[in-house]
Amino acid sequence: MTTSATSSATTASAVEAAPIRHDWSTDEIATILGSPLLELVHRAGLVHHAHNRPNTVQLATLLSIKTGGCPEDCGYCPQSAHYDAPVEKQPLMLVDEVLTAARRAREVGASRFCMGAAWREVKDGPEFDAVLEMVRGVHGLGLEACVTLGMLSDAQAKRLADAGLTAYNHNLDTSPEYYGEIITTRTYEDRLRTLDHVREAGITICCGGIIGLGESTRDRARMLETLANMNPHPESVPINGLVRVEGTPLEGEKPFDPLDLVRMIATARILMPKSQVRLSAGRTSLTREAQVLCFLAGANSIFYGEKLLTTANPETDADLELLRAIGVETVAAPPPAAEPAIKFKSARAASLPVAPSQAAPRA
Ligand code: SF4
Repeated sequence: MTTSATSSATTASAVEAAPIRHDWSTDEIATILGSPLLELVHRAGLVHHAHNRPNTVQLATLLSIKTGGCPEDCGYCPQSAHYDAPVEKQPLMLVDEVLTAARRAREVGASRFCMGAAWREVKDGPEFDAVLEMVRGVHGLGLEACVTLGMLSDAQAKRLADAGLTAYNHNLDTSPEYYGEIITTRTYEDRLRTLDHVREAGITICCGGIIGLGESTRDRARMLETLANMNPHPESVPINGLVRVEGTPLEGEKPFDPLDLVRMIATARILMPKSQVRLSAGRTSLTREAQVLCFLAGANSIFYGEKLLTTANPETDADLELLRAIGVETVAAPPPAAEPAIKFKSARAASLPVAPSQAAPRA
């Protein structure tokens, strides 16, 4: 798409008439991502206004229910057992402790409660049974329940659905081609398989990525392409900026440019008009003004609470003050579109991942 073609798509009527697509090419996405920033934000804003309530933001709270000691080697993560990062290991929390935290989150305005366990995969047994109990409890409090537990089987996904799980978070992090530079203990294909199990169970998908890992702009476009060509789109798309943690292989990466985060959010909004686009990790690196730009670009959810699993997040009071200052209301997420659980295009079919053996290992 040329710049003039991009411009032609920036009228409100063109945006409203445009069908929701699942057939984006890398080149198209790279062109959108690289278009002049003001034009990009304008176009994303039109899409956002056409499909969502623009003056609203959902608050989600994220709690680490089992911390550290993870056998995976994600290069950005202080919870990996492969690195000597300053994270105190904690076993799985008790169900009551988690539900107390969920009640507190609800009292301060969160409508979604996400629970993260530093596991490679779900193992059947007492710990998974406890997580199912947590999901039942959070659901019973009237909150959307979301978990991130690593890989899971189709049977485990069904048990989570039966317990009342709203969403399963399983990020792709980066492009299929760059994945092997960041993680070597699992493959992109593993990731996509779990997403298929989640979708088949009728649970909504929360899936996004991270910028600032040393990836190229094309990698960013490829990651968005994988997400945008899923059918249906992930209901929730977290866009993260790398939080560089001491002791992890990526601690020395160059800080990401906040304007690149704005570009990612705007492009995600254009490609996936109805998804909740979540401004996630890395928000402490953004000024208030940069966060406002992210909202203008179509972000409609933030993680709320002073910690994001193990890394810092802005103070809750500062968040509420900012939202008040710009006149944004906090809301529950819209109910996910009623999609028949079995009629979907496999996440694996949406991507042409390069086998990890073909990707260069991290030095
Ligand atoms: S990101 Fe998740 S899977 Fe990767 S090391 Fe951290 S806790 Fe484990």
